[in-house]
This record gives sequence, structure tokens and C-alpha cells, in this order.
Amino acid sequence: MTETSQTTATDETRWSIAIHGGAGSMTPETMDASAVALHEAALSAALAAGEAVLAAGGSAIDAVTAAVVALEDDPLFNAGRGAVFTYHGTNELDAAVMDGASRGAGAVAGVTHTKNPVKLARKVMEAGPHVFLSGAGAEEFAREQGVEQCDEDWFATEERWRQLQELKARKLGWFDDGLKYGTVGAVARDAAGHVAAATSTGGLTGKRWNRIGDSPVIGAGTYADDRAGAVSCTGSGEQFIRAGVAHEICARIRLAGKSAQGAAEAVLAEVGAMGGVGGVIVATPSGDTAMAFTTPGMFRARSDSSGKRSVGIFRQD
Ligand code: ASP
Repeated sequence: MTETSQTTATDETRWSIAIHGGAGSMTPETMDASAVALHEAALSAALAAGEAVLAAGGSAIDAVTAAVVALEDDPLFNAGRGAVFTYHGTNELDAAVMDGASRGAGAVAGVTHTKNPVKLARKVMEAGPHVFLSGAGAEEFAREQGVEQCDEDWFATEERWRQLQELKARKLGWFDDGLKYGTVGAVARDAAGHVAAATSTGGLTGKRWNRIGDSPVIGAGTYADDRAGAVSCTGSGEQFIRAGVAHEICARIRLAGKSAQGAAEAVLAEVGAMGGVGGVIVATPSGDTAMAFTTPGMFRARSDSSGKRSVGIFRQD
């Protein structure tokens, strides 16, 4: 099942932004009121960080970076502080950014000491000759570029540690693919009409073998093209990589004339046919945003310069 909501741009729409804090199995029955309030406040604060950039006439790429930094710093979400643990009890972080104006992109995978992986992805895009760096080399680049490093304890939280122990005790399989996603992302359209996307994650609880999901893979979890839109994904990364979800949504908008909403739903249906679930957020050059997800819930928020603003978690929100 895919239920969605959509914002329609009006002539006076000058900017728009949407964020997610991960798709997952949360329902009103499984989340208590205080957890709902905490998550809604965190989403609202991250949205505000992006809105402040756009309202001041800033760029979409600056707005999505600011929103994702806020989500990375919040231990509630599986990115930066509060990232999930690998099988061996470490945190390996992945992030990507893409600017629709230039189709410039930067991505990092498996970083362990970079406080805000999205800032490092941004540096890769702007200061390096490459698009995608990983592991120790990515952090060598980070140090050379003066991107803030931290002790690995910064990322660790008791709740994520508990989730790893639960996974091991229950022998749930290779990794936790049981609908506990918490990746973060943002997409935006700025007053100049440019779009951008950013995504950041700790990946999946219990991941091994330096597994990398879709989030930092340009075209899979993150993509932006001024001719189509900006997309950030969350969900079962293996299927999202195989479907090339973010680029596929942009391709359908650009080449097949699909709406962002229609393209998002159709591509998620294909992910479903492969056995994957998750969600996407899209911002288009015309100022629309679209959101779609096939999980029971997705942490999400969006707003635009016409004054529309919403925060949601469950399907019915
Ligand atoms: N897509 C992410 C991954 O596979 C997980 C998530 O969305 O939380 O690494």
C-alpha cells in the first residue's frame, strides 16, 4: 500500500523544503505520546534550520546541509549522534549531497570519526577531485580539509546499543532489516529555482563487512537535477540500490513527464516488488514537494514560503 500527501505550489511559492528522519514500523499503538512529541519537536527544529537559510535567500544546497546537520546532531535519529551499531559495536557513517544546479555531488561511506558526515560529503563535492570517498581515506581528506573530527563515543547512545544486543540475542539474521530505519535526509528548492538533496545514515543495525547502503550512493539514495527534482530516500538499502530509486524518480519526471508524486509511488512499488520497503521525499524546480512511503510510518516535515508547514510520523498524519 502506498498512501501519500502532496503540497501544491502556488505562484507565490518562492522556496520549499522537505525532510525525513527515516521510514519505519512506528504506529500510534507502538509509540507513546512523549516519544511522538520529542520526534515532532526534533523534526520541527531541523526543518527550521533549513527554512532559515531559504527565507534569507540562501541556496537549496545550504538549506539541505543545515537541516541534515541538525538531524545528525540529534540522538533520536540514525545519523551522526545516535547512529546504529555495526555487528562489531562500531558506528560507520554514510552521507551524500547533490546540487541540482550543477549536478555536482559528494559522498562518503564508512566514516568513524567525522562529527557531521554530511559536511564531509559537502567538502568532497566542493574541494576534492572525486565524488565518493570511503573509510580511512575519507577521514584523511576530512582532516586535510579541516572538517571537524570527534571521538567515536560521540555517536554512541544506550538505545542503539540495546538494539544491537536485541538483534544478537534474537539472532535476527544478517542485520536488522525489520523496518527500523532512521536515516535522515532533506530536499529543497530555493528562490532561484535550484534544487538540492542530502542524506545521512548509520546504515542498518548489525551490518558487517563494511556494508554500504543506498544513502551515500548517488542515484540510489540521493539525487538532484534541476531538470527534474531532488530526492532523498530511506528504507531497505539493498533494493533501493538495485532500483536506482533517486535517479529513477528524476528520470520519470524528466523523460516521461510524470508528477513527482506519481513517479515516487511508481518507483516505490517496484522496490516493493523486489521485496524492499521505505520512503522518499522529493522537491521539484516548480516548488512542489512530494512524499511517499510503504512502511507504516515515516518521520517527516515540510514547509514552503507560502506559509504551509506540517510535521508527521504516522500514515494518517
Ligand atoms: N537506507 C538505509 C540503509 O540501507 C537505512 C535507512 O533508511 O534507515 O543504509
